[in-house]
Amino acid sequence: MDINNTINNSEFILPWQELIWQQVLNTKNQNHIAHALLFAGPLGIGKLQFATAFKSSLLCSKNSISEPGCGQCRFCKMSEHPDFHNVTFEVDEKTGKVSKSIKIDQIRKIIEFSLLHSHYSKAKIIIIHPAEAMTVSASNALLKILEEPPEGTYFVLISNETHNLSATIKSRCQLVQFKIPDANVSRQWLLSQSINKELIEPCLKLAFNAPIAAKDYADKKYIEQHIILINNILSITNNSVDPMDIASTWLKIESNLPLQALYSCLSDLILLKSVGSESEIINDSNRAILQNIANSVSFTGLYVILDKLLLAKHQIKSNISLLGIYEDILNLWQRLTNKVKII
Ligand SMILES: [Zn+2]
Repeated sequence: MDINNTINNSEFILPWQELIWQQVLNTKNQNHIAHALLFAGPLGIGKLQFATAFKSSLLCSKNSISEPGCGQCRFCKMSEHPDFHNVTFEVDEKTGKVSKSIKIDQIRKIIEFSLLHSHYSKAKIIIIHPAEAMTVSASNALLKILEEPPEGTYFVLISNETHNLSATIKSRCQLVQFKIPDANVSRQWLLSQSINKELIEPCLKLAFNAPIAAKDYADKKYIEQHIILINNILSITNNSVDPMDIASTWLKIESNLPLQALYSCLSDLILLKSVGSESEIINDSNRAILQNIANSVSFTGLYVILDKLLLAKHQIKSNISLLGIYEDILNLWQRLTNKVKII
């Protein structure tokens, strides 16, 4: 079973996507749209939502020129349109575990699907996200069909990390680049989503200004979790807890949050060291402790952990033990910071 298999059909274009929507639409209306599109850009800015709107504009029976889909016709209301296929991480029905990659069998299925006649619409559409999660064999299988795409079939690849996509796949796609919107646009949008005003700035900082990710931080109480994680990290510096114990507790937390928290600490420390004490940092409520650490550690030490962290973000997607990854990185953190006197 694919997660998000029933993507919401009542989509709309986000305020910061209006220009890019017009550009894509103009290309489509002039029949210049490529059969493979690559929606690239940072995580948390609404690429999937945009792709879903694009899908509806192709499948809607009213075939509206400028809208993402009428939201009213039976095709827009279908939870699973027969001319649409969504490819993402699968959930094992027995164990409930989410896969860490997009496998060749999933790509074979969409190749079969792409060769069939469409059921209701003039077009068929396949969304693959995140495209960089395809295994090498999945990516090679997809490449073959992208080289000779069947008439009327559109592939939309969504990628947060295009550097992890094969160059040949990229060369077969029309690139649509998404960017982080202006901070004011994000703030206005978060307010319109009824996000508590006081949470907007801290959540935007944590999400590196990506508005959808910032909304997730506020909606899912990630921000409270983040505060606990930062306290965990700083208590290791303080020598008041064993890194091994923290590593075990982190296993119970949604997997990208602990590394995101550590990343935010490192990013703050590098800023405090390079720009100075006035820097705009993410973990502002811990400014004094972070400044203290920044004064005591070397850039080299910080970059060693940063390298390890970037490697860990990659390893998390493989079968390497998550506990081992956390233990390694927290031990390194302890060795770097345990001489710092916390006042
Ligand atoms: Zn419709």
